[in-house]
Amino acid sequence: MTPSTASEIQAEMAALNLAYQARLTDDLLALQAQAAPLAQPDVDVAAPLARLLPALHQLIGSAGTFGEVALSEAARALELQLRSRQRQAAAWPLDERKAVVETVRGFSRLRTGQDPHTASVAPGVISGQVRRVDVLEDDPSILSMLVSSLRSFGYAAEGHASVAALERSLARRRPDAMIVDVHLGAEGGNGLALLEALQDRRHPPIPTLVITTRDDFEHRLRAVRAGAVGFFSKPVDLPQLENRLELCFDDYRGEPFRVVAVDDDPLLLARYQLVLGRAGVGVYAVSDPAQLHETLNAVVPDLLLLDVQMPGCTGAELAQMVRFDERWIGLPIIYVSAEADVGLQTAAMVRGGDEFMIKPIDDSILVATVLSRARRSRALANALARDSLTGLLKHGAAKEQLSQALSRAVRAGQPCSIAMIDLDHFKQVNDTHGHATGDKVIRALASLLKNSLRKDDIVGRYGGEEFLVVMNNLTAPAAAAKLDRLRTQFSALEFQGAEAPFQVSFSAGVSDSRSVSDVADVLIEADAALYRAKDAGRNRVMTADDFT
Ligand code: GH3
Ligand code: MG
Ligand code: MG
Repeated sequence: MTPSTASEIQAEMAALNLAYQARLTDDLLALQAQAAPLAQPDVDVAAPLARLLPALHQLIGSAGTFGEVALSEAARALELQLRSRQRQAAAWPLDERKAVVETVRGFSRLRTGQDPHTASVAPGVISGQVRRVDVLEDDPSILSMLVSSLRSFGYAAEGHASVAALERSLARRRPDAMIVDVHLGAEGGNGLALLEALQDRRHPPIPTLVITTRDDFEHRLRAVRAGAVGFFSKPVDLPQLENRLELCFDDYRGEPFRVVAVDDDPLLLARYQLVLGRAGVGVYAVSDPAQLHETLNAVVPDLLLLDVQMPGCTGAELAQMVRFDERWIGLPIIYVSAEADVGLQTAAMVRGGDEFMIKPIDDSILVATVLSRARRSRALANALARDSLTGLLKHGAAKEQLSQALSRAVRAGQPCSIAMIDLDHFKQVNDTHGHATGDKVIRALASLLKNSLRKDDIVGRYGGEEFLVVMNNLTAPAAAAKLDRLRTQFSALEFQGAEAPFQVSFSAGVSDSRSVSDVADVLIEADAALYRAKDAGRNRVMTADDFT
């Protein structure tokens, strides 16, 4: 085991800093776009405010952590100011709102940027959004199969045949995830022992999937203790493995959890904000139950904390009211109450709650309970909205997100592009190489799209071999140019056919929100452009403007 040297840790920090600085540029631009509507005279400020606040909150934490102290403090000051404004948003003078937009615009001047020393340590370590996966497997045929299929899914995968080889690679750079076979031959070393040692000193731990020939309780337990987030017995189901890998990344780049807390005691609310805020959870306080509905819709929380005894209504009544709305049927509700009466507790639970905590609540128990509930709730919501073959948003969820993205873009006065993508002659692929191979092609395109687009872009599996892509802040010609590069990359991919390797292309139609902003119209335009692209010979990207 090579110990983790100071320079190694420094290199790792430098790589993370580089990645953060790259992201910060996007984040600040997004923040400006979110603030922009505030400067308009006749605008309902509640919606932009509700988007701006969580983004600011995230900025405070991340900027502070990555050494952008001035920026973090400025964001905190603005957050305080906006929070106090949130209650009387209607009476907010225009010049004050304009000043907020200016403040946000000034954020980028507060950046110190990366320190030059840092930049020289590990140039090129962070290669855009391509995700690095290290694979440890001593069986050469399985190793090359794993590596080549991960590559075809758009990952930068690297194979290692022994623990020593993986360690050498880890000393050079940190992967985004690892896949580790824990039963290696005599030469290979001990995979589980390596993981146990690694997870002790890597912060945060590298998400790791374990493959093993032994699927028993003892091995599962050891894997859990070594920090594994997935466990697969051989022969490995590749689509499942890749799906789980995607879940790791979702967690990795996930937004902070959001909690809405209802209590008539403002001091308690402030305390929740403090305690949960320290754990990275955004707490949105509601002291007037009548405001709950509106807050839920604006915040879209992962969890609801409800006081039981309030003037005017009870927590149980509120919970029942929340469940009236189909949208909130799955929202975890935790009652927080000084009420120790078991009968009342039961009655409250029956009214649609999930858990009951008695005041005063131990801080660490509050944090642990909220985090575990919120995590599962998000994982569940995510799983329900996603297609199991590709991990992409399903038709309905994609369309819903498209409509949100469109209204956001229109409000912010920014463009938003929509692309419909359809694989070319796909029936033929199925007929020649079989349905399972066809599925592999679909997954490869899904991964390429996911891994190549920006984090706030939307990718959905719209139909069997049709995809919907939404690109924020791009006009149709720019979006088409980007898609065209992906088209070239995709058509160059080689798939293993029944006899010989084969290639597949796609066609795409792109429209944007400049001419039409209604969801249905935008989709019709994109679809018409796709039809033209097919008609013109396939393997091409066309915009609605190309033929009007
Ligand atoms: P075109 O270039 O005109 O799009 O030709 P095409 O053959 O791709 O025609 P079309 O889009 O109508 O065909 C879709 C085919 O995709 C038909 C269906 O068998 C196949 N397909 C749809 N969903 C799946 C899936 O989940 N897996 C696989 N393997 N095939 C699918
Ligand atoms: Mg089709
Ligand atoms: Mg097709």
